[in-house]
Amino acid sequence: MEQQNQVNRSDFNEYMVPVFAPAQFVLVRGEGSRVWDQNEKEYIDFAGGIAVNALGHAHPVAVNALTEQGKKLWHVGNGYTNEPVLKLAKQLVEHTFADKVFFCNSGAEANEAALKLARKVGLMSGKSDKNQIVAFKNAFHGRTLFTVTAGGQPKYSQDFAPLPGGLEHVAFNDLEAAKAVITDKTCAVIVEPIQGEGGVVPADIEFLKGLRALCDEKGAVLIFDEVQTGVGRTGELYAYMNTGVTPDILTTAKALGGGFPVGAMITTNKFANMYAVGDHGTTYGGNPLASAVAGAVFEFINTPEVLDGVKKRYAYFVEKLNALNEKYNVFEQVRGQGLLLGCVVKPEYAGQAKDINNLAAEEGLMALVAGPNVVRFTPSLIIPMEDIDEGLARFERALQRFVK
Ligand SMILES: *Cc1c(COP(=O)(O)O)cnc(C)c1O
Repeated sequence: MEQQNQVNRSDFNEYMVPVFAPAQFVLVRGEGSRVWDQNEKEYIDFAGGIAVNALGHAHPVAVNALTEQGKKLWHVGNGYTNEPVLKLAKQLVEHTFADKVFFCNSGAEANEAALKLARKVGLMSGKSDKNQIVAFKNAFHGRTLFTVTAGGQPKYSQDFAPLPGGLEHVAFNDLEAAKAVITDKTCAVIVEPIQGEGGVVPADIEFLKGLRALCDEKGAVLIFDEVQTGVGRTGELYAYMNTGVTPDILTTAKALGGGFPVGAMITTNKFANMYAVGDHGTTYGGNPLASAVAGAVFEFINTPEVLDGVKKRYAYFVEKLNALNEKYNVFEQVRGQGLLLGCVVKPEYAGQAKDINNLAAEEGLMALVAGPNVVRFTPSLIIPMEDIDEGLARFERALQRFVK
C-alpha cells in the first residue's frame, strides 16, 4: 500500500498539464519560514508561496482559524451570507478607503470583477463608447482571458487570440504616454503600485498622482492592483497608503488568506452600487473557511508591530544584500519596498536570474524570479531575523558558485 501511494517529482511530468516547470524536489511540510522536502532536506523560504504565506507556514493563528471554522461551516454559497465573510468585509472597510467588498478566490478573479465593474461604470455614465481600459506594459493582472489581455506581457496572451478588445497599453511610469491615451472614452486605468511579476518595479509617486488627476478629469475609475503589494507586504497595510493617492477600486489576494485561496475587490459605495443583483457572481467567493482564515491573518498583520517589523526587515535585507553585492558584484540594483524585494542582475548576467535561484535551492534557499533578470524575495512578513541571516548565508554560497 505504502509503495502505491508514493509519489515523486517524476509523476509531475506524467500526470500534470505542463504549464509549470517546478523545482526538482517535492515539499512536504513547513513551519514558520523553514520548509522540508521528501528527503528531509531543509529550505529557508524567501519565496513565501509567491508573496502569499504572510505568516509563514502553519502559523497557529491561521491553523486555529481554519480548524475552528472547519468544525462549524465550510460552504453555503452566496444564496446565504455567513459570519466570517461579514467580519472580513467589515475589517477591510474599516481599515481602507473602501465602503464595500466583493469576495472571490484569486487575484485574477478580483481583477476580472474590477474590470467588469469598470465597464459597467462606463455604461452607466450614459456616454456611448466609454469602455476603453488603459493598462501598462509589463504589468501582470492574472491569467483569465480578460486579465491576461490587461496584463502588458504579450507572451502570456498572444497564443489565445482573439483577445477581448478595448484595452490599450502604454509604458509604465510614463505619464505623458498615459495622458495621450486617457480620453473621455476611457472607463478605467489599472495599475500596480509596484509591478511585481514584471520585475519589482515601483511606480513613481508623481506617475500615480498624475493618473489620479487624469482619471478625475476624464471620469475614469482608477484601479490599483494590489494583489501582490497588499496586506502588509510593503510595510503599509496597502501600498496606496504610502502614495498619497487613493484608488476607486483596489484588488487584493495573495497574502490576504496567508495561504488559503481568497481574493477581494474593494471599492466605494458610488461604484459598488453600479453592480446590481445578478451582474456578477461566484460559487466559492466569500466561503466561510477562506473568510475565517483571512480574517485572522488580516487582524494579525494589521498592527503597528507587524507592519513596522516589515520595514525593519526591509532595511536589514537591503543592507545585507548590498554588502553581499560588494563582494560578488552580481547585481546592478536592489529595489522594492517592504518584503517585496528585487535584485536586478548586471547586464553581463542577463537572463540568468533563474540560474542563481537554482543554485540557491541546492544550498537550501527558496527564492523567486520576476522576469529573466530579477531575483525576487517575498518571504513571510514575520520571518525571524535568524532565518534571514541563514537564508542570506545560503544565498551567499549560491552567489559564490554563480560567479565562479
Ligand atoms: C499574482 C498576481 C495576480 C494574479 O493572481 P492569481 O491569484 O494568480 O490569479 C494579479 N495581479 C498581480 C499584481 C499579481 O501579482
